[in-house]
Amino acid sequence: MSKDYYKILGVEKTASDDELKKAFRRLAHEHHPDKGGDQQKFKDINEAYQVLGDKEKRAKYDRFGSAAFEQGGFGGGQGFGGFGGGFQDFQGGVNFEDLGDLGDILGGMFGFEGGRGGQRVKRGRDIETELIIDFLEAAHGAKKQIKLYKNSVCSVCQGTGAEPGSKMETCKTCNGKGQVQKTARTIFGAIQSAVTCPECQGQGQRRTVDCKHCSGAGIEKVTKEYSIDVPAGIDDGEALKLNGEGEYPGVGGKAGDLFVRIRVKAHPGFSREGQNVLSTAEIPYSTLQLGGEVTIDTVDGPGSLKIPEGTQSGTVFKLHGKGFPYLRGHGRGDQLVTIQAKVEKKISREQKKALEELKKTGL
Ligand SMILES: [Zn+2]
Ligand SMILES: [Zn+2]
Repeated sequence: MSKDYYKILGVEKTASDDELKKAFRRLAHEHHPDKGGDQQKFKDINEAYQVLGDKEKRAKYDRFGSAAFEQGGFGGGQGFGGFGGGFQDFQGGVNFEDLGDLGDILGGMFGFEGGRGGQRVKRGRDIETELIIDFLEAAHGAKKQIKLYKNSVCSVCQGTGAEPGSKMETCKTCNGKGQVQKTARTIFGAIQSAVTCPECQGQGQRRTVDCKHCSGAGIEKVTKEYSIDVPAGIDDGEALKLNGEGEYPGVGGKAGDLFVRIRVKAHPGFSREGQNVLSTAEIPYSTLQLGGEVTIDTVDGPGSLKIPEGTQSGTVFKLHGKGFPYLRGHGRGDQLVTIQAKVEKKISREQKKALEELKKTGL
C-alpha cells in the first residue's frame, strides 16, 4: 500500500501550500531524531512533504492516487521500470529552499542535495502521454510504438557537455571531490554538511572544451521511439511508468520519468466492469423455450453457450474466464451475457403460419 501523505502530515486533502509547510515544519521539529524523535516517523514526514510540498508532484499524487504507482507485477515490458515503489524516485529533486535552515539539516541527514545556496541535482520534467488502444488489445495485451520529441541526453557527449576527446581538468572549487562543505546556522546550532559542488555538479572534473553538438548543455532535442508492452487486462485511465524516460535537464541532471496513460476505445459489442466483460445476446424465442446451444461472441472469438429449456429473457449467463486478466496475480474475470428474446421484424409466410398455430395453443 502506498502511504497516505496527507494523513502523515495530519492535514486535509484541501490543505493550502502554507498549511502543508506549517504542518511539516511543526512535525519535523517535533519528531527530529536529534531531539529523541522516531527516525522512521521523521522519514515518513519528510517523504510526505517531498511530494505534497511540490505542486507538480502533489497533483500527480492526487491524480494517480495509488493506482499508477502500486501496480506490482508488471515485470515484463522492456524499458519498464515497473511500478511499486511509491515516490522514492522523487528524492533527488527535493526542494529544500523554502525550508530555510531546516532544509539544510534534512538535506545533510538523508544525503539529499539541498539547502540554500547549495546545488541540488536537477531533475528533468516528467512527461505524460496518451496511448489509445482497442478494447480487445486491453484484453489480450499489445505491443505499441510511440514517438516522443523531447530533450534527451546529447548523443555526442552522452550528456556530459564536454567535446569527446577533450581534456578534463580537476575542479578547483572542490579539488575533485565533487562536494563542498557548507556551514549552516540552524536552530540546533551551526551544522556542517557536504553539498554537491555547484561548479562541477559533483563530477569532480570540469570540461575544457564544450561539446560542439549541444554547446555544452548536454541536451539534444530528438524524437525517440518506444516500444510499449501494454499488459493484458489494463483498464482505461491506468498509466505505465517508464523510469528515466522523461526529459533530460542537462549536464549533471537526472532525467524525469515518462508516464503513458492508456485510453481504451469503446467496443460495439462489449463493455467492461472491473475485470468482467458485459455483453448482450439476442436468442430466438424458440431456442429459449426449447433449449439449445448458441454461438456467443467473446473477447477470445466465438464461444458456445448452452441455453437450458425455458430460459427467461433477461437471464444472465456467466462464461467463466472470458473476462480481462488480472494485472496482479493470475486468472481472468468472467463474461456476463444478458439474454434477450429476439423478435424479428419480418418473418416468412410459413413461419407466420406456424406461429398462428402455436398461438392457438396458448403460446
Ligand atoms: Zn553534447
Ligand atoms: Zn567541483
